[in-house]
Amino acid sequence: MMSKIGTESNPLRVAVFGSGPTGFYTTDSLFKNGEMVVEVDLFDRLPVPYGLVRFGVAPDHPKIKSVTNLYERIADNPRFRFFGNVEFGKDLLLSDLQRHYHQVVLATGAQTDRRLNIPGIDLQNSHAATEFVAWYNGHPDYRECQFDLSQTQAAVIGIGNVAVDVARILCRTVDELRETDIADYALDALSESKIEEVWLVGRRGPAQAAFTNPELREMGKLADADLVILPEEARLDDLSQETLDRTQDRAVVKKVEMIQEFAAQPLSAKSRKLYIRFLVSPVELYGDGDGSVTGMRLVHNELYATEAGTLRPRATEKFEHLDVGLVFRSIGYRGVPLPDVPFNDNWGVIYNQKGRVVDPDTQEPITGLYTAGWIKRGPTGVIGTNKPDAAETVDCMFEDLAAGKTFSPPEPQSEAVLRLIAQRQPSYVTFEDWHRIDQMELEKGAAQGRPRVKFTSVQEILNALGK
Ligand code: NAP
Repeated sequence: MMSKIGTESNPLRVAVFGSGPTGFYTTDSLFKNGEMVVEVDLFDRLPVPYGLVRFGVAPDHPKIKSVTNLYERIADNPRFRFFGNVEFGKDLLLSDLQRHYHQVVLATGAQTDRRLNIPGIDLQNSHAATEFVAWYNGHPDYRECQFDLSQTQAAVIGIGNVAVDVARILCRTVDELRETDIADYALDALSESKIEEVWLVGRRGPAQAAFTNPELREMGKLADADLVILPEEARLDDLSQETLDRTQDRAVVKKVEMIQEFAAQPLSAKSRKLYIRFLVSPVELYGDGDGSVTGMRLVHNELYATEAGTLRPRATEKFEHLDVGLVFRSIGYRGVPLPDVPFNDNWGVIYNQKGRVVDPDTQEPITGLYTAGWIKRGPTGVIGTNKPDAAETVDCMFEDLAAGKTFSPPEPQSEAVLRLIAQRQPSYVTFEDWHRIDQMELEKGAAQGRPRVKFTSVQEILNALGK
């Protein structure tokens, strides 16, 4: 008879899909449980790890990226293995995993964007911000995207931190960008950019802005772009002022102060302008005969309080036109369904309770199947938010293990699944392989005086590894 699960002779075997921050925090929580012997296989559909840290975090935010040093330490555990270039539901099916693991965690993040349903949104030169972000970060699926940087005016819809990243990258000088690990083709394209003005378009006011204070401060310090805020839009309406007077949230008070200070500043003579607009919503994008964006119609909003006290925007009768030739919509990421996993299409997340995947009809947990991170709770919070989120899921996993609720894999041995992976995806990438790629990227960067030059295609990576 098999010994208890979680022992030296019968370790708890877990497969985690998605090697972004949540995948690593989940792994860490599993290893740190203090009692059980756990083996984790971390999978990614891309051949390199770190998900959104590599492909989402802005290239000019190297400090945020240094969180990967922590992930490297987690990966040092001898009971950890990485399998890159292996996709859930394609190379490995849920039924395969049930043969080899006790538990499976889905931490695949939010890979697409929320739709904005206004006329003209599908015109040429109107893009999802998530695509631009993935493109400048060298994501293999987006390297072929084209962005018309011969335009002089661009708008970014939404004023969250992703919108700010996009606006900032459009406003940086080539010298600023060269100091980053931005994809080399993006550096080339942006060095030819003719963009002069970037408009961040916010539907609510300064006190409701989704960007955070360090990001706001940074917009005021760009080498060759002025931050412009209209004084009349920086002033708070009565409802916002009342809410602010009552708030305990110092960061919001500070944010409003900073916005008003920026609005009062005289312009300098920098070559680009980065406008933040408040209380305006795009209602339509206009196009020319070729189907390319030529402008955006905006409606001015006012705020009203919902029963719950939230301030929401409501359109007024006042309209305005922006002559923009390039538009990015940045109103939030959205999760993508996974084969054989119940998905809540309204919210863009896997049906779950505290990380236990549940059957949507019965609300009963599906034994052995878990989720964590953005695909569990939606695309909110910073990287660190995923740590307690992953810990909550892992707590459920250990609770269920104690109650005897796991898959009953007939072949739990770590070599058994290795044979299957080698058969299904012979070009899988290990963590050692990743270290070689990492080294090559750093060396290529050093030769060009840059921190890193990324590989941006799967084939290039496999070729470099001789696979
Ligand atoms: P976000 O923070 O949720 O911001 C979404 C923005 O879109 C908000 O301004 C929102 O306005 C607006 N919006 C939503 N629906 C809209 C509509 N129909 N029309 C116009 N505007 C609309 O999302 P995000 O920017 O994608 O960022 C995702 C998460 O990653 C956030 O938690 C963010 O802080 C984090 N992040 C952090 C960093 C960093 O730390 N540097 C960098 C990037 C991302 P309302 O507020 O009115 O809904």
